[in-house]
This record gives sequence, C-alpha cells and structure tokens, in this order.
Amino acid sequence: MSTASINSCLTISPAQASLKKPTRPVAFARVSNSSSSPSVPSLIRNEPVFAAPTPIINPILREEMANESYEQAIAALEKLLSEKGELGPIAAARVDQITAELQSSDGSKPFDPVEHMKAGFIHFKTEKYEKNPALYGELSKGQSPKYMVFACSDSRVCPSHILNFQPGEAFVVRNIANMVPAYDKTRYSGVGAAIEYAVLHLKVENIVVIGHSACGGIKGLMSLPADGSESTAFIEDWVKIGLPAKAKVQGEHVDKCFADQCTACEKEAVNVSLGNLLTYPFGRDGLVKKTLALKGGHYDFVNGGFELWGLEFGLSPSLSV
Ligand SMILES: [Zn+2]
Repeated sequence: MSTASINSCLTISPAQASLKKPTRPVAFARVSNSSSSPSVPSLIRNEPVFAAPTPIINPILREEMANESYEQAIAALEKLLSEKGELGPIAAARVDQITAELQSSDGSKPFDPVEHMKAGFIHFKTEKYEKNPALYGELSKGQSPKYMVFACSDSRVCPSHILNFQPGEAFVVRNIANMVPAYDKTRYSGVGAAIEYAVLHLKVENIVVIGHSACGGIKGLMSLPADGSESTAFIEDWVKIGLPAKAKVQGEHVDKCFADQCTACEKEAVNVSLGNLLTYPFGRDGLVKKTLALKGGHYDFVNGGFELWGLEFGLSPSLSV
C-alpha cells in the first residue's frame, strides 16, 4: 500500500441516510402449481423439497472428505444417514414436523422457506419485472454494468439493496469480509475469473470494495491466534488475506479498544483489497489507461452511514521525470 494513498471524497451522514430496521413480510401469498392460474410465475413449481438433518462429522472423516469427489461425498452422506436410521422420506417428514411444531409453539405461523421464496419472487415479478418491460427486455439481450462490487456475504449488507443498484448495474462478488486476494491462479481462481470477466469482457468502469460495521470476518481476522494455529477448515486461512490491515491497525491504533480496532480494520482491509487489485494485470492496465477506477467503501448499518473513498496512486519521486 506504499504507492497508494486513500482520500476521503464522500460521506453520507446518518442524518442524510436513515436506516430502517428490517421487517418481515406481513403476508405470504399462497400459490398452487396449477398451470391454469395466470398469476403463478412460470419459474415456481410446487415440488417437494428434500430435508435431512445435518450429520455430525468427526475431524478424521472431515479430513477424508477433503479428497473425495462429489459422488463419493454423496455416497458418504447417504451412509452416515443410513447408519443413523434417518434416511428416507418418512424420517425427513418427521424432522420437518418436529421443526414446525417447535417453531409454532408460541402460536405464530411457522416459517416456511419455500413459501417465503415464492412470495418474494411473485412480489418481484408483479411489482418490478412486469412493470419494467423496457429494462428487462434490454437485459435479456445482455449486460453492461458500470460497477464491479466486492461486498461481504453478511446478510445485512446486500449492495444492491443499500445502494439501490438495479438489475444490470452491478457485477457482484460476495465473500467473507469482502476480501480481494492478490493474484493467484491456483488458490483464488474464482475471484480472478470474476475480475477478469468484469474488466476484460464486461468492461466495468468502477471496482468498488465495500466493508461494513460489525463484520464477523474482520473480527475473526483481528482474533487470529498469534501462534498461527488454525481451528477452521477455510475461514482463518481466507481472512488472512487481510493480515497487512491487521498489522497496520495494531501498530497505529494500539491505544484503542478491540471494537474500535475492528472498525479501523474493516476500512483498512478494504485498502488492502484495493492494493491487491493492482496485482491483476488487467486491473492495473485499466487504471493506467483511465478506463477503470478503484473505490473503497464502508457501510455502517448501526448508524446508517456510508463512506466512499477513491484510490490515488502515482510514481514515487525517485522514478518521476
Ligand atoms: Zn462482514
């Protein structure tokens, strides 16, 4: 990050951007799977959903699973369930029944995940899709988003929701703690493929990395044991992408409490990701040719604020002419 300096250019204060607490839908529409009903979206089919309890997997078995194909993994899961006597539709239905009874013990309607998604899609289709034929007609031909966005997988920070991006506006990657790893074709090919596609094929003009308040991934990063030991299969290794941010925060904010250090790291980790974007040749080229801008953001859902800052870089004095 020595060649990159970050300057604040926009802050939306809590007073300007109010935040509503999430509310549950007041009613779920009940739909049938009858093809004669014109109100039923074609993508929804009222088919049974398989449900099975999560098996308890011991560490030795987990190690073995790391090297197996998905066919082997399915066979192993069936074996586990069979051994526990929990395979089959009767057992699955019984689990569903018990779950429903537990959820409705207070008299409220039990949560039905399938009905919830049906109602959500019906709402989207009738209120948005069918009311914007021009937009969705255009999108059926292709996409040309102006933004690529990195955001956390946290369920509270959907970028399309908080920034009101419409379909077709943002090409989004979400992962734990909104990290962009440095270029690595072996370990991080998924992220690399997304950046390559966004920059070279979609020709996005902006890449925005958005951190957020109370980020569990950043808290995990700040809580990593000093001895380097790990107790998770993926999480700790992943958030270590942000280690330079942690080191900077611990060096510069040594007098602050842990919570404040985490907040500082949420923003500093965004800067590390912006720096890592420069390790991708197509990201670097876009920046030099000024066809691509990099931006950092931080969404504070506790106070309802959003900060946005730009990345500026330049040649060091010894290299300038
Ligand atoms: Zn997060």
